[in-house]
Amino acid sequence: MNGTYKIHLAKAVNIIQKSNYVIALVGAGLSAESGIPTFRGKGGLWTKKGEPGPSQYRNFVKDPKSWWINNLDEQQDPERTNFRNVIDKAKPNQGHLALYELEHDGILKHQITQNVDGLHFAAGSINITEIHGSRANIRCISCEFKTPRVALESSIAKLSYTEKIKLLPPSCHRCGGVMKPDTVMFGEPIPSSVLEECVVQTKKSDCILMVGTSATVYPAASFPQEIKTRGGKIIELNPSSTSLSEISDVSIRGSTSSTIPDLVKKLGTQQH
Ligand code: NAD
Ligand code: ZN
Repeated sequence: MNGTYKIHLAKAVNIIQKSNYVIALVGAGLSAESGIPTFRGKGGLWTKKGEPGPSQYRNFVKDPKSWWINNLDEQQDPERTNFRNVIDKAKPNQGHLALYELEHDGILKHQITQNVDGLHFAAGSINITEIHGSRANIRCISCEFKTPRVALESSIAKLSYTEKIKLLPPSCHRCGGVMKPDTVMFGEPIPSSVLEECVVQTKKSDCILMVGTSATVYPAASFPQEIKTRGGKIIELNPSSTSLSEISDVSIRGSTSSTIPDLVKKLGTQQH
């Protein structure tokens, strides 16, 4: 631990101890050390292939049947299939576990995560809003009802192509609407119940940990800015600078699999 790092940790501890309602905004960087590549980082899916266009959701709504047929075909996009397999096998790292500890100790009240990998829950955290949805579920585009994705996949796995075509797109058990993966597509609005929870949490908060996120995806990136405008604090945890580094009160550089555990340790020693 070098001197500057120690000073930044101490500053973060001081801010946290003076705050009433600490929340976190989490990005793909937290799961990097669980083996899940970030999309925008080195070797990331979008770095190689470019970002999906803003019409991704519009194309889904226009022809959900073709979209589902294409999506369930693993041969169509081997990189997409590989990314999914990596997520399905990933385990939480020390960063996820340290966030769980902060929640368990009553310090961290809520986490708004942009990650779709479910690793917060695997680490034991409870108070989570998955703003970009979860890979584990599919969701109705009309009433927001969710159901596990594996149930759908196993029910159609053995069907012939013609039988599949008849069943797709999957329909909602509650309202008969069209089901899509819960993960939010480009051009798709954040489901209203999810966005409401984020707004409520942001309003309550006077300190936000910005964990492994480049803070470039909206509306997520607006939450720290709103807290700051109200006089609250931003603690950034990221190996690189981000678009919100300038307005952050302190930036702790390094992988979050070691920086969050360091923060937890330091908070623990200062409390006793
Ligand atoms: P992003 O915009 O949040 O950027 C990734 C950030 O992670 C960068 O700021 C980078 O500096 C940081 N980072 C890299 N290594 C790190 C480490 N070891 N510790 C901490 N931080 C580290 O995320 P993105 O990759 O551009 O993805 C955009 C969206 O795609 C996400 O918001 C999410 O919806 C989805 N996505 C999800 C996952 C996942 O669920 N694990 C992975 C990739 C992408
Ligand atoms: Zn429905």
